[in-house]
Amino acid sequence: MIDFKKVKIVPSKDEKATQQNPQAVQRQQAAAQDQSVAAKLDEIVAQALAGTATEIHIEPAHDRSRVRLRIRNQLVDSGSAEPGMHGTLVNRIKVLGAMDITKRGIAQKGYFKVDMEGKQVELVALVMPSPAGEKAFIKIHYRHSFELGLDQLGLYPKVLEAHKKLLERPNGLVLVAGPPGSGRTSSCYACLQHLAKPEKNVTTFESNIRYELLGATQGKPEERYDYTYQAGLRACIDQEPDVLYVGEMNDAEVARMTLAAAFGKRIVIGRMNAADGATAMLTLLDMGLPGFLVTSGVIGVLSQRLVRRLCDKCRQAYQPGEALLGELGIRPREGLSFYHAGGCDECENTGYVGQLGLFELFTPTDKVRERILARATAREINEAAAESGLIPLKHDGIRKASQGLTTIEDVLSRL
Ligand SMILES: [Zn+2]
Repeated sequence: MIDFKKVKIVPSKDEKATQQNPQAVQRQQAAAQDQSVAAKLDEIVAQALAGTATEIHIEPAHDRSRVRLRIRNQLVDSGSAEPGMHGTLVNRIKVLGAMDITKRGIAQKGYFKVDMEGKQVELVALVMPSPAGEKAFIKIHYRHSFELGLDQLGLYPKVLEAHKKLLERPNGLVLVAGPPGSGRTSSCYACLQHLAKPEKNVTTFESNIRYELLGATQGKPEERYDYTYQAGLRACIDQEPDVLYVGEMNDAEVARMTLAAAFGKRIVIGRMNAADGATAMLTLLDMGLPGFLVTSGVIGVLSQRLVRRLCDKCRQAYQPGEALLGELGIRPREGLSFYHAGGCDECENTGYVGQLGLFELFTPTDKVRERILARATAREINEAAAESGLIPLKHDGIRKASQGLTTIEDVLSRL
C-alpha cells in the first residue's frame, strides 16, 4: 500500500518556457495561493498511484469536475471535485506542466513528475477545450524494475526452447507482435533480461520507458526538445549495440532502420502492432521494405494475447458441448474439460487471479518465405507455417483453457 504522505508532486522545470513566458511567475503565484486546489490534485494523483491507474481523466460536469481513473484497462469513477473548482484544478495542472495558464481555447501538453517513495513517476498532461469547459487528461508512466524471466512467461517448453535459440543467434530481428494491451512489453523485457550480460552493450529505445533494466542504456524521444524517434534510434544504432530493443515499429522509416540494424552483428527485438507473424511480415512489406530483406532479416515473430487467469481454488470444470467444439474446430474426446469462473475468498469473488499470456512463435521456413515473397494472404502464409510446425495462438489458448488456466470464452474473445 502506498503511503499518501510520501507522494510528492514535482513541477516541470522547463526553464526555457519560464524565460520565454513572463506569465510563468504569475502562474506560480496564482497556484500557490490556492492550497485547497493543490491538495485536491495531490489527492487525485495519490489515489491514481495507489490503484496503479494508468490514466486520470478530469472532465467538466456541470459545476463540478468528474474524476475517472483507468485501472486495469477500465475507466472507473473516482468521485468529483468541489463545485466551482474545475477551472482552478485544470490551471493547477497547467502550472505543474509549465503550460500557458492564460490560454483556454487551445490544446496544450505538459510534463511533470511525482515522487513516490523515492521513485519518480512521469506524468504527461494534456488539456483540451470542449464546449462544457476544459478537459484534463494525465497519462501516468510507471517505471518498474523488471523481474520476470523468459521461463515465467507461460511459453510451452518446446516453444520456449525455440525462442531461446532465436535469441542466441548472432544476428537478426525478433518481433514481438500483438494488439495494444497484450503484454508485449513484458515479453520484450524478458528477452532483454535473458540477453543482458555484463560483456554486452544492451540499448533500448521506446516512447515510454516502463521498466528499468539493469546494465542497459535506455533511451526515449523527447518531443519538447525536438528529439525525434528517428534521431534517437539513429543515435542508438550508431553506438553499435550488441542487443537493441525498438519499442515501436509502426513507422516505415523506423522499421527500415530497425531491419537494417539487424543485419549487423546484433540481435534486435522489435515490438510491433500486428495480429500475428504473417500479418507482421505483410505489414513490413506494405511499408515498402524490400521482401528479400524482410524474409532474411526477420528470424522470428512471437505473437501474443493476454487472458484472465482462473482462480484454481474455485474454478468449475464442465464438458464442452458439440456446438462449442465445432466452433473451435476440435473433435470431441474423452476427458476434455473446460472451466467456468467461480468465486471465493482467494480471488475476492471475481473468479480470476491475474493474467496469463497466449503465445505463437512464427519462424519463417523456406516455404513460408516463398509465400511471403509471392505476397500471399496472411491465411495462406499461416497455412504454410502450420505445415512447418507452427502452433497457432488459438491452439495455445485451447490448451490453456483445457488445463483450467483460463476460460475458453476469454480465449475466443482475444483472438
Ligand atoms: Zn477463487
